[in-house]
Amino acid sequence: MNKLTKRLLKRHLKEGFDLDSISKLVDAFSETIDQYEQDRLMLERSLMLTSDELNEINDTLRHRITEIQNNQDLLKHQAYHDSLTALPNRTNIMHTIHHALALAKRHQQKCAILFIDLDDFKKINDTAGHSEGDRFLIEVSKRLQSILRESDTLGRLGGDEFIIILENIASGSQITEVYNRALRSLSTPFIIDGNPYVVSCSIGISNFPQDGETVEELIRKADLAMYQAKKLGKNRFHYFDESLERLAIHRVKTEESLREAIENNEFVLYYQPKIQINQQQETLVGVEALIRWKKEDGSLIFPDSFIPIAEKCGLIRNLTKWVITEACRQLKRWKNTSLANIPISVNISAIDIADHGFVDSTLSILKNYDTPGHLINLELTESVFFDDMNTVNFKLGELHNNNLTISLDDFGTGYSSLSYIQDLQIDFLKIDKSFIFGMSKNKKSLAIVKSIIDLGNNLGLTVIAEGVETAEDKEILINANCHIAQGYLYSRPIEAGELEEIYRK
Ligand SMILES: [Mg+2]
Repeated sequence: MNKLTKRLLKRHLKEGFDLDSISKLVDAFSETIDQYEQDRLMLERSLMLTSDELNEINDTLRHRITEIQNNQDLLKHQAYHDSLTALPNRTNIMHTIHHALALAKRHQQKCAILFIDLDDFKKINDTAGHSEGDRFLIEVSKRLQSILRESDTLGRLGGDEFIIILENIASGSQITEVYNRALRSLSTPFIIDGNPYVVSCSIGISNFPQDGETVEELIRKADLAMYQAKKLGKNRFHYFDESLERLAIHRVKTEESLREAIENNEFVLYYQPKIQINQQQETLVGVEALIRWKKEDGSLIFPDSFIPIAEKCGLIRNLTKWVITEACRQLKRWKNTSLANIPISVNISAIDIADHGFVDSTLSILKNYDTPGHLINLELTESVFFDDMNTVNFKLGELHNNNLTISLDDFGTGYSSLSYIQDLQIDFLKIDKSFIFGMSKNKKSLAIVKSIIDLGNNLGLTVIAEGVETAEDKEILINANCHIAQGYLYSRPIEAGELEEIYRK
């Protein structure tokens, strides 16, 4: 009610009503009601506006929340899945096995872990490139996935390593079935971008509960078994057994003492003479340095017992560096003696050649000792050519540019691909001793020896025969036109002092 109406009402209540005043009062009332109606409409409109705004804010918030949730899901997926194959990744696998073991313990069930590693997968990456390699891994994961039951889990540990978790196993035949299917599934060639690829795999198997009770233990043991499968020729499976564990412990112990031996300088070089035989007078034309591990009690350990372990644990590079350094030191000691200018051959592992820093570190050792390059010969076996040929050849070229010479060692026992000798910058061909040992009695060995000598001569290489033990061997080799002989006929590997004694004059 507005002020005017109130005043009118008050006056008329005091003075009494007449018609005119009543009609004025009615007008005033209706005016007030109109005013109220207008206010109400205004209020209603403003309320409606606010609720629209509120709805809009609500929608935005809902949208943001969904977005955050999606991102969270994506991050969670990424954290637990391999980005290439979308399979469960290492973290996820560990969780899954952990969970599977807890369940198996509670219900007294059995589980198995299959550790799968592709054989020579590196070749695909090297020949076809990494993107082809990635596509190949995706295909492999699809094939492996397709052979599993729904309750089994396939995951990728990384690289070309996969894990299969088999839960609730009723009998051993279930495991047999899975690894057989896995091996078979990879045996059909993969066609990627029109090119066929074949890669087999090696599988190691550990069982719960007999082989271990923890995730780490079971994976480690399956891994050991997988290595055994590789060692036995690849494309096969192997179950974990205790002898593998003992072997692994022995390896770890040898590795430890090898590390200490390097620190304590417990190695010594023995030298085996190489004698030129295709000339009137037999002359010493070089020596092969052979490493020995001299134990505190004076006993000698031969390289066959520790070099493979050193190669596996990465210590081989330190050992090779030590050998090259010691050879350079020895050359310096011989500088003004009758052994001056006699080149020393050093055996180089495939791992050394694959190492990016190998050429630089070798050249810097030579520089440190003022060793002329032509006095160092590197003996490589064919295994170095598993690596990319162009890279190996480039490195050999650099060594050649610095006057070092290269021998292809143990020739005839490796892959003996003739394209290697054609393409590679080598100077010497060393015939493996296994052919020399048999050649005087075995016609086939003799034929091989003669062919290798012809091959080497025709390619302009100097041919060296290893394992020459008898005068008869020597005669055969001279007649076959072999240049250099090394073996017990001349000398076993001896220490530097003894060699100096012999060649004092
Ligand atoms: Mg050798």
